[in-house]
Amino acid sequence: MNNRTPLIAGNWKMHKTGAQAVEAASGLKRLVASATGVEVMIAPTFTALYQVGQVLKGSPIALAGQNLHWESQGAFTGEISAQMLADAGCSQVIVGHSERRQFFGETDETVNMKIKAALSANLTPVLCIGESETEREAGNTFSVLDKQVRDGLNGFAFDGQADIVVAYEPVWAIGTGKTATREQAQEAHLFIRNLLDSLFGKPFASTVRILYGGSVKPDNVKALMEMPDVDGALVGGASLNPETFSKLVFFND
Ligand code: PEP
Repeated sequence: MNNRTPLIAGNWKMHKTGAQAVEAASGLKRLVASATGVEVMIAPTFTALYQVGQVLKGSPIALAGQNLHWESQGAFTGEISAQMLADAGCSQVIVGHSERRQFFGETDETVNMKIKAALSANLTPVLCIGESETEREAGNTFSVLDKQVRDGLNGFAFDGQADIVVAYEPVWAIGTGKTATREQAQEAHLFIRNLLDSLFGKPFASTVRILYGGSVKPDNVKALMEMPDVDGALVGGASLNPETFSKLVFFND
């Protein structure tokens, strides 16, 4: 047993207009109102953040950005800063999602700068890492995770309670319907936790939440959550519908 509170996080990606996001957030707020012993987070698109934040007021559901820039302001057309996310009501931000790495040139170095920016604005970064199918087949899963963690968190000196979240998201399982087995997830999570222990010490490693992401659905969430080092889920597709997402929040029922 550990005392890490599970976190069920929804990444809405580039889905939902403001009105649709408000409707989904209102539904979710109602559906998970009785949930206990679990934290819930949603990451709508930037344009819906403020409106959704207003809906979530007075609810324990946390609001998150899907990305941020590492500078606080400036001539960076199309970008958004940690301070702006906080101003819109966010308390968390997803950093280094594989779609950002794959399609938008995100690197471990930019991820590192973004984590620094998030923490300085009191946003909890959700650091996403994970291997591609080719990397797994070549037997490189652990070396990929090792590099992503070391470089992403390079220069930090976490020495107590964790104020970041890590999401292990094997790229081959994202949006594909191919979920990692719970044994594969546990093996990767334990590797990550041990690495964090060696880098930052036990108080940090034993409190950091490591989420699994990759085709999490109501029919596989319970089995995944039973694994000792799986502390929650980062969910794409199944987070878009409030009824479906609420079933993940009540994974224990
Ligand atoms: C994700 O995008 O982080 C994700 C895990 O997506 P999905 O749940 O759709 O696989």
